[in-house]
Amino acid sequence: FTKEELLEKDRNYVWHHISPHNDEPLIVVSGEGCWVTDIDGKRYFDGMSGLWCVNVGHGREEIAAAAYEQMKTIAYSPLIQSHVPAIQLAEKISSWLEGDYRIFFSNSGSDANEVAFKIARQYYHQKGEGTRHKFISRHRAYHGNSMGALSATGQSQRKLKYEPLVDGFEHVPPPYCYRCPFGKSYSSCNIECAQIYDSIINWEGAESVAGVILEPVITGGGMIVPPPEYLQIVREICDKYGILLIVDEVICGFGRSGEKFGHHNYGVTPDIVTMAKGLTSAYSPLSATAVRAELYESFRGKDGISHFRHVNTFGGNQVSCAVALANLEILERESLVERSAYLGQQLSYRLNLLLDHPNVGDIRFFGSACGIEMVEDQITKEPASADKVLQVVQACKQQGLLIGKNGDTVAGFVNILTLCPPLITSDEEVDFIAAALIGAFDALLEGKEVQQSGHKPIADDQQPQASQAN
Ligand code: PMP
Repeated sequence: FTKEELLEKDRNYVWHHISPHNDEPLIVVSGEGCWVTDIDGKRYFDGMSGLWCVNVGHGREEIAAAAYEQMKTIAYSPLIQSHVPAIQLAEKISSWLEGDYRIFFSNSGSDANEVAFKIARQYYHQKGEGTRHKFISRHRAYHGNSMGALSATGQSQRKLKYEPLVDGFEHVPPPYCYRCPFGKSYSSCNIECAQIYDSIINWEGAESVAGVILEPVITGGGMIVPPPEYLQIVREICDKYGILLIVDEVICGFGRSGEKFGHHNYGVTPDIVTMAKGLTSAYSPLSATAVRAELYESFRGKDGISHFRHVNTFGGNQVSCAVALANLEILERESLVERSAYLGQQLSYRLNLLLDHPNVGDIRFFGSACGIEMVEDQITKEPASADKVLQVVQACKQQGLLIGKNGDTVAGFVNILTLCPPLITSDEEVDFIAAALIGAFDALLEGKEVQQSGHKPIADDQQPQASQAN
């Protein structure tokens, strides 16, 4: 088919997850390392690792081989029985978590969060505290698309026509120092954004609250990085009222934050950890809900069997588990967790230059994930117009760099550029990312078009190997 024919068929048959940006969708045909190639043969640096997930890069033969070998051996048997890849992977995840956890497998981040909500509610029922059914989440948070996960989400998709949402999901303001919802400044603020959990729990009645769910940093809602004390304070408040802390590591986990899991940066132990994307680097759908061992034990009856009933046909299938094991092996062998921290530092050295640009208000990093908050004016902090943000995204694309954008979708501002490069990004590629972004912002200032870079800044035979973190 020609590209035009494919685009026509795409329009006629494919319902996109969210409508593509207001130009035609890329038809991606292949990927290698940090780069994807479209149907015209143009190469783009995958600056969002797909959708925050392809951490080990594209085209990893070891992962393809692991999937192939597993498919030949046995592709599927349900986790009502057991199998070796699931046993090995559950042990591996528990060791990455640095705690004693039991692992429940499913297929997506939304699934993993639904499982967490069900476990939390059933846990309290078993304890005779069945009134505890509410969850506290945050405005700007994203926790998935299924009804429970959507109800936990604090973005505009809640406002579409899905009502009634699941009862019992309350939201608190985000820990957003750049635009403090309490009008305060760090550190004279008494970390109000964390203390508010105490007030809301009292307001709702502690006996009605089962859990708090949060990401270590709000990624998809605009890279909102909390003050360093935040998570510790929330943990203490949860302990004070006997409430479970559920940490959503769907994006932050598996090295993105510069630690194995995002919460490791803050020294807290969650009761439940949910994970997906980076677990397989998107080579196969798989997610997991890790539950502290004592919690799990309370689900076992006198017969020793867990009394949690939640069958998920494909969850934890052999192939996905084998893929995850191969992916984690790469992360360990190539020290990609450490490299993530290094990439964040390297990118921040270069991108902090942009703080002089009149349309840049703030730049925030969490490991190698970055958010650049665009404003109309650095003093008033008025969010940049959709048009300006789009100009930068498009100028990056023209130079061969794919980035994302996000923001306060409830207020209608999508003014934060997001960048989440594969963890194998080389030093030369860091330079490329920085040059493309700076070029895009320069073009915005000068009201010019960027020069097309030919989408192939590095010759094939000179593709750099991922260099070591130190
Ligand atoms: N939690 C977070 C933090 C996410 O970013 C996402 C997906 N972007 C999800 C949950 C839901 O994951 P999935 O799309 O796999 O259902």
